[in-house]
Amino acid sequence: MKYYILFGPPGAGKGTQAGAIAEKYNVKHISTGALLRAEIAAGTEVGIEAKKLIEKGKLVSDDMVEEMLENYFASTRDTEGYLLDGFPRTLNQARDLDRLLAKKGEEVSAVISLMIPDAVIAERIQHRAAIEGRADDADMKVIKTRIATYHAQTEPIIDFYREAGKYHEVDGTGSIDEVKNKVSVLMDALHK
Ligand code: AMP
Repeated sequence: MKYYILFGPPGAGKGTQAGAIAEKYNVKHISTGALLRAEIAAGTEVGIEAKKLIEKGKLVSDDMVEEMLENYFASTRDTEGYLLDGFPRTLNQARDLDRLLAKKGEEVSAVISLMIPDAVIAERIQHRAAIEGRADDADMKVIKTRIATYHAQTEPIIDFYREAGKYHEVDGTGSIDEVKNKVSVLMDALHK
């Protein structure tokens, strides 16, 4: 089973690129942000708790996200693997993922990182706000908190996977098609 991680700051284009990758390599795209938004829409306890944090640009607790992810893995069949989008987002989540996969005799296959500078993050998120209508995209204060959260809590994951020899970076600043082509070249080399 393949476990790919699509990594990058908010607004890097993970959600935009994920569908094509998942289809081409027959893996299931799983976005923890999308799962949380579904919980919010359904008005569940998890959703009510998550909403308060997401609205502020803060991360939801590791336990909450990991439970959701485990349930998702357990509920899916007929796939050659997964493309994780938005997870792991802390070093603790990265370590927990390793432990969870080790229990199944599996491991992270590769990390594909879409990298864009901070100035482009804000621009992309504001553009997306108009299209997708996400509340956490519309407020500049929340966007700034998300960028700060990324640098403080998520970026350290890069070295974790680099040391494991699993980290691969793609320049995410071009057009959707340009980035798609670069990701495709990388995935073709990685997907054995
Ligand atoms: P995303 O759709 O990936 O941009 O996620 C939207 C929001 O959901 C984030 O700003 C976080 O508040 C929350 N979230 C998504 N994934 C995670 C995660 N792995 N750990 C903690 N919070 C998360």
